[in-house]
Amino acid sequence: MRLLLVEDDADVAETLVLYLEKQGFVVDVATSLAMARDALDDGGFDLVVLDRGLPDGDGVSLIAWSEQRNRRQRFIVLTALSSIDHRVEGLESGAEDYIAKPFEPRELLARIRTALRRPIETRRETRRFGPLMHDLESGVFFVDETPPTLRRTEALVLEALMARPGAVIQRETLEARVYGYDK
Ligand code: CA
Repeated sequence: MRLLLVEDDADVAETLVLYLEKQGFVVDVATSLAMARDALDDGGFDLVVLDRGLPDGDGVSLIAWSEQRNRRQRFIVLTALSSIDHRVEGLESGAEDYIAKPFEPRELLARIRTALRRPIETRRETRRFGPLMHDLESGVFFVDETPPTLRRTEALVLEALMARPGAVIQRETLEARVYGYDK
């Protein structure tokens, strides 16, 4: 398994490389976002361990960059920025996991192994409105993470309303959507 470690702290990087290579991983190190982008362009990494505070920006931006290029890549974010807000931000950006510094290499190893066992999830396109979520890929609706029981016509109405949250939609428009589809 090949890992990319994006970390600008030489001591942390050295410790982790020694430890992870002893566990059988091949580890490449990038000390900046620019280096990490070059490495990811070359490809072949099973997982990226990503520091946030890098000399040329926030490491988390690499996740969006990678997704824009349609790369299926696992990330574990490693950082001293450990407030709840930062953790949530990290996870919502598409990282598999988030580890606050200081941490034990053993913990990182366990998280890496867990992440590698999971299939890579591509970020799904969704629409949200309050507690409602519409997964555009599967067409399934969720209310607070639970799919409600909806008839086909109800789902079509809801889909039309969620496409334009807050907008007034004419009854005729909705009828056309619902009955038009059934003809
Ligand atoms: Ca750093």
